[in-house]
Amino acid sequence: MKKLAILGCTGSIGLQTLDIVRRNPDKFKVEAVTAHTDIISLQKIVEEFRPSIVGITNENYAKNFNTCYPCSVVAGKDALVECASSSLVDTVVCAVVGMAGLDGVVSAIQAKKRVALANKESLVCAGEYITELARINNVNILPVDSEHSAVWQCLTAGKSEDVEQIILTASGGPFFSYNNISDFDGITVEQAITHPNWKMGKKISVDSATMMNKGLELIEARWLFDCNNVDYIIHPQSIIHSMVKYKDGAIIAQLSNPTMELPIQLALTYPDRIPTATPDFVFDKNLTFFQPKEDLFYLPKLAKDSIKQGKSAPCVLNCANEKAVELFLSRKIGFVDIQKLVKSIYEKTEYFKINSVSDVKNIFDEITAKTAMDYKNILRI
Ligand code: NDP
Ligand code: MG
Repeated sequence: MKKLAILGCTGSIGLQTLDIVRRNPDKFKVEAVTAHTDIISLQKIVEEFRPSIVGITNENYAKNFNTCYPCSVVAGKDALVECASSSLVDTVVCAVVGMAGLDGVVSAIQAKKRVALANKESLVCAGEYITELARINNVNILPVDSEHSAVWQCLTAGKSEDVEQIILTASGGPFFSYNNISDFDGITVEQAITHPNWKMGKKISVDSATMMNKGLELIEARWLFDCNNVDYIIHPQSIIHSMVKYKDGAIIAQLSNPTMELPIQLALTYPDRIPTATPDFVFDKNLTFFQPKEDLFYLPKLAKDSIKQGKSAPCVLNCANEKAVELFLSRKIGFVDIQKLVKSIYEKTEYFKINSVSDVKNIFDEITAKTAMDYKNILRI
């Protein structure tokens, strides 16, 4: 029986993890959960799954939490750390969105838990630090992101020194058919968060629409698999989840229906595989591939540049993007402004070596403040 902490249990990945637990009560017990603002959903989750510890990361919302069920409640900045490091827990699902998830990831590794990682932003910001911490603590970081789960599965086909390239697939998002920058005019928040193949949280949906999600995933892959040769191809059906190319020219791919159930579950059960509730894959689809349109969607180019630059470059890119997406979601800037703003902040910032979690947090504070302060000037609005 695996004893889980689910950090970000009220989100898209958190709720899908709970579905897996619900279907497999003999295999998993939820011992700790965290939420940020969605107290109504949290109460329902607590009453159904009866965890021992409940974390509410946003202190202002903690007073609304009210349950007769006896559990210990931790509010505020210690919530992620307490849940991730609890001795009642052996597996931590890191499903918080954004850099805010970093403390949970770090604590889970320091406490030597099995880490099922969905929170890509923490690895993007602190990749070198986190992977070194995992190595020292002998912890395997198991990918939840579907592309990285695919790569991880494909890597069993050969030796790591024989890998030539990791090739991620990208659906292209809702606007892949657009050919001119003027086509982006007037894109609404509602259009941007409606993804053709996946139902996800708002932030990652916007990242998928701008293609920044693929940029973040290239950086994530670089750290998870210690490989600098990472690239991507557009595959609109999202059936091939990613590929690994070996020295001899063999390309190994992993296929399944577009579902997060499989990658989440595999991160929890590995090395075992158990049935999923997703219907069997039917071979009735045409699989197509296209080159990315990087002149139009240029954020992945910046992500590749940040991998080359190293140091704090990926962190700066991510932090500028987090703020830009927030500004778009609050309707202060337009869709096309996201990439303009991120590029401008990224290109104006100097990079330095990251030595600690506080270095990462300082960059986050500095870059998000700068993005918030300068966006009107940069975008001339
Ligand atoms: P959601 O927005 O659906 O959920 C985010 C979760 O994080 C919620 O539980 C939310 O709590 C909590 N949260 C939000 N802000 C904070 C904060 N400042 N501190 C602590 N907790 C916070 O996101 P997703 O589930 O879609 O994504 C989660 C992560 O997984 C992201 O990094 C994403 O890139 C990655 N991912 C997601 C996929 C998907 O299919 N959704 C696929 C692959 C990766 P509350 O709701 O209570 O406010
Ligand atoms: Mg993904």
